[in-house]
Amino acid sequence: MRQRKRILVTGGAGFLGSHLCDKLISAKHDVLCVDNFYTGSKDNVRDLLNCPRFELMRHDITFPLYVEVDEIYNLACPASPVHYQYDPVQTTKTSVHGSINMLGLAKRVNAKILQASTSEVYGDPEVHPQDETYWGRVNPIGPRSCYDEGKRCAETLFFDYRRQHNLPIKVARIFNTYGPRMQINDGRVVSNFIVQALTGRPITIYGDGKQTRSFCYVDDLIDGFVRLMETGSEITGPINLGNPVEFTMMELAETVIELTASKSSIEFKPLPADDPKQRQPDISRARETLGWHPSIELREGLSRTIAYFDELLRTEGVDAV
Ligand code: NAD
Ligand code: UDP
Ligand code: UDP
Repeated sequence: MRQRKRILVTGGAGFLGSHLCDKLISAKHDVLCVDNFYTGSKDNVRDLLNCPRFELMRHDITFPLYVEVDEIYNLACPASPVHYQYDPVQTTKTSVHGSINMLGLAKRVNAKILQASTSEVYGDPEVHPQDETYWGRVNPIGPRSCYDEGKRCAETLFFDYRRQHNLPIKVARIFNTYGPRMQINDGRVVSNFIVQALTGRPITIYGDGKQTRSFCYVDDLIDGFVRLMETGSEITGPINLGNPVEFTMMELAETVIELTASKSSIEFKPLPADDPKQRQPDISRARETLGWHPSIELREGLSRTIAYFDELLRTEGVDAV
């Protein structure tokens, strides 16, 4: 029988966090969801609020937190450039002070702790695809640095708590993930293109559209998280989690237009500063260590995401954008 655990999910009312809470609750665990609702919302965990094994706490992890848990998934951090650049000092604080607090908590209660790191630690990479041995090429003083360097420092803290205090840590480097409950207005490419297509507005391609990304559907990613958490203490990562199938932004735009049968035109806009030209995970380590690989193809995942946004636009209206 599966052991019932008390699990803390920071950032649990966000896009990934809410899907993780769903999965942990359906596996019959007790879940404490901690969120300051900066980019997340109660709506994302609405269906869990009546479950007695689920608890929602408004709290900012840059402040200490004293609770008793067996496992911690540390996801709290705004993830889209629009949001993390809005208050860059708070973004760095969330990754650095927030990680210190969650690591201090894990140390006190001897909990396993998993950090939601990011492919952004590789910056604009010179090697392709990126495996975990690559140290990255990150601008330390640009507009994306609050996020990239904050996440890099968080990784350093995780490994120092491991070396110094023998803490059972896990670091997952997440590549672009998409699915239902992405925020409608967070500027990320999948939500932008889908909402533009559904509302008949022009699809905005930044640059020439030849830059690439690899998109992982949320359910696949959450499965990888849980598998990583379940490994023995010798497994620390970092482990890349993402879908290695690579697309150009132009191909993505064309697929979204086709799946929504949209009449939207394509509009080219300037490329943002430090925008990586290509990104693709090497997931050999995840395959070998976790027996994990993504199984939901882009067209299938996009169709599910389109259905979510279609419903949202119907209920909340185009003004929600
Ligand atoms: P999200 O913005 O939907 O979720 C982040 C959550 O953290 C939100 O609910 C927000 O309110 C909360 N939060 C932010 N600062 C906080 C603080 N100081 N204290 C408490 N809560 C706070 O983003 P997401 O896409 O769900 O990302 C979750 C995690 O995964 C982030 O750490 C992000 O860096 C990482 N990640 C996501 C992706 C992706 O493609 N979605 C890729 C790489 C890494
Ligand atoms: N901390 C926390 N909850 C706990 C234990 C610690 O939030 O249950 C915070 C605490 O405020 C401290 C940080 O985690 O600032 C780091 O804790 P640690 O024990 O590693 O360092 P120290 O307390 O010695 O600075
Ligand atoms: N992008 C785009 N149009 C948009 C939003 C984003 O062409 O409306 C591009 C963006 O410049 C980047 C890619 O899509 O090259 C992925 O952007 P996103 O912000 O989703 O993720 P990240 O850059 O963090 O990987």
